Amino acid sequence: MSTGWRILIFFLAAACHSASEKQTAGEPVPMPPLVSESKPVGQGREDAVSEEIQAPGQDVGALEKRLLAAGLVDVQAIIPEVRVDLKYASTDNFFGKNVYGSLSRCYMQPEVADMLKIAYLELSDRYPELTFLVYDAVRPQSVQQILWDELDKPDSIKPLYVADPEKGSLHNFGVAVDLTLARKDNGEPLDMGTGYDYFGYPAYPDREEQMLAQGKLRPEQVANRQILRDVMKKGGFTGIGSEWWHFNAYSRKVAGEKFDIVK
Ligand SMILES: [Zn+2]
Repeated sequence: MSTGWRILIFFLAAACHSASEKQTAGEPVPMPPLVSESKPVGQGREDAVSEEIQAPGQDVGALEKRLLAAGLVDVQAIIPEVRVDLKYASTDNFFGKNVYGSLSRCYMQPEVADMLKIAYLELSDRYPELTFLVYDAVRPQSVQQILWDELDKPDSIKPLYVADPEKGSLHNFGVAVDLTLARKDNGEPLDMGTGYDYFGYPAYPDREEQMLAQGKLRPEQVANRQILRDVMKKGGFTGIGSEWWHFNAYSRKVAGEKFDIVK
């Protein structure tokens, strides 16, 4: 996506005071609600804008050491069959910026990895040809802070784009996972109707009936999402209404009681 489009998108997003929309030319701009009704209070748009992220003194080795020191585990150490493609460690994300440097492993709380393993075993049982493709899990508060600071918006509307680092998002606790389903043999992701971090109604689980009726989603795409939701539910995860790829292991309240924010 060109810089021009990105700027236009942010202008449109700011104009309607809503989550921003990954748009292609010619498409009408959906107007999602001010705040997704299904998003837990205090959890804003956690996948957000940044410039090149390389905080002073924060090299990649240091970042990974911090994740390990926080007691987090590499998901592939727990479930070797899972595939990982950290979108925020590449420029293949909504913002076109790498915020994780050369980090390639995906970390999360050990109990969350155990829950994911239960979900994975369910998936393997039902669809032996499929596996998970994990896009993101823990997102340290230091990265969140940089995203927040870099975002050129009034503080009052920043939470629409980035979770307030002071409050923390569930990704900051290492208890949220962004993922999709992929073929085990070649790693090809299943068609979910939109890509990761597509902002707008076609990505909203809450809007699937409407999107189907409008021809913006096909039944097989929703069926693929349903497989993901079913197996994640089996592991104890809860989805949200605005992102088909995002799952929480705990509520914000429980996460705050059980874990510290990963700095
Ligand atoms: Zn997420």
